[in-house]
Amino acid sequence: MNRRELLKMAGLGSAGVLVGGVKAEAEAVTPRYAAGMPPVTIRSVKAIATAPQGANLVLVKVETSEPGLYGIGCATFTQRAEVVVTAINEYLNDFCAGRNADNIEDLWQACFVSSYWRNGPVLNNALSGLDQALWDIKGKRAGMPLYQLLGGKARFAVDAYAHADGKTPEECADQVSKFMSDGFRYIRIQQGGYGSLYLAQQPDFKDAGFGKPTDDFMDPVAYVQAVPKLFREVRKRCGEEIDLLHDTHERVQPVDMINMCKRLEEFNPFFIEDPVSPENMDWFRQLRESTTVPFAMGELFNNTNEFVGAIKNHYMDYIRCHVSQIGGITPAMKVARLGEFFNVKTAWHGPGDVSPVGHAAHCHIDLAIWNFGIQESVFFSDQLREVFPGSPELKKGYLYVNEAPGIGVDVNEKLAAKYPINNKAGRWTIRKRDGTIIRP
Ligand code: MG
Repeated sequence: MNRRELLKMAGLGSAGVLVGGVKAEAEAVTPRYAAGMPPVTIRSVKAIATAPQGANLVLVKVETSEPGLYGIGCATFTQRAEVVVTAINEYLNDFCAGRNADNIEDLWQACFVSSYWRNGPVLNNALSGLDQALWDIKGKRAGMPLYQLLGGKARFAVDAYAHADGKTPEECADQVSKFMSDGFRYIRIQQGGYGSLYLAQQPDFKDAGFGKPTDDFMDPVAYVQAVPKLFREVRKRCGEEIDLLHDTHERVQPVDMINMCKRLEEFNPFFIEDPVSPENMDWFRQLRESTTVPFAMGELFNNTNEFVGAIKNHYMDYIRCHVSQIGGITPAMKVARLGEFFNVKTAWHGPGDVSPVGHAAHCHIDLAIWNFGIQESVFFSDQLREVFPGSPELKKGYLYVNEAPGIGVDVNEKLAAKYPINNKAGRWTIRKRDGTIIRP
């Protein structure tokens, strides 16, 4: 990015004068924050939905009373994207219009309780979009990248992990070797994709005409037998130096998970992710007392209160959550700070169903907090980078954000409109051999 592009991204005119946003180089000058100035108010809150890399992404754009000054935030709940769009356009916009854009905490609290019933994934994601957009605006007004507002850098860049996946342990080990040669030091290993669905031969429920033909199948017992073999092969081929992670996707019975983790101890995993479903949190004490394998937990948590007991009791080593799912940067910072007191680190959920704005928000938090653990990363396609100028860069296993004020990622709305979202709703329907639904 050259100086002119950087200045544009920063909302600075070519003379370095702060103006509104990317498009506002020649527009009215927007003064930075100064005491005694009239407040900047919210003019509108709207949703932008796009899918340049296949996954549905939802963004919030907050426009303000200052011409050209706006913020962008991530509100991506990919499985129910249209519902989040409705929550933003039909409820948040009306609720927020005219309010003071500076008061992020107050706006978060006001929106949070405004529906009376709260903490659901749809409203939390809409709230996250608003929250992140307000932090973006605050950074632009301060003339600082977000990590500076959060306390400045605690490290020079963000350690990230890549995803190795194969139909067989050998195929997975090949991918691990490739990522190691690209400079990655942390790699998640899976066999057969999400939750290891590699055992998807024709199951009995399909022969019986039960469920839908598109429903997936998993054999949990075969899965817990296969994972130690996967670790053994990767360790044999790739050595002890590389840190290996694995996601169980909450799909097996707690006792089976305990037995599997005991067998994984000899392979020294960095962490095992989401070993039980949220409904089985009462098993965690027994899980913890039975094995020394580190755990990351919380991808399905929506309510930040779910973290309190789990962190306090040292059930988890890593806070694993989808930042937009809990309501954005404001609550994520609170959970992260709580973790610091108990030596629990962060591992924000960062797959392809987080927008580049959301990935950048993760990185700003990761840079600023002491108890950062690891960051999940994905490779952004050229189309995605075109729609989201300023997206984070991945180099030798580290993620970098740019130095533009705010979150530093914009959205090209014209291009975004070329990639409409879809409403495929059934993705997570996974059954046992007899057709019983498996809870993730
Ligand atoms: Mg996961």
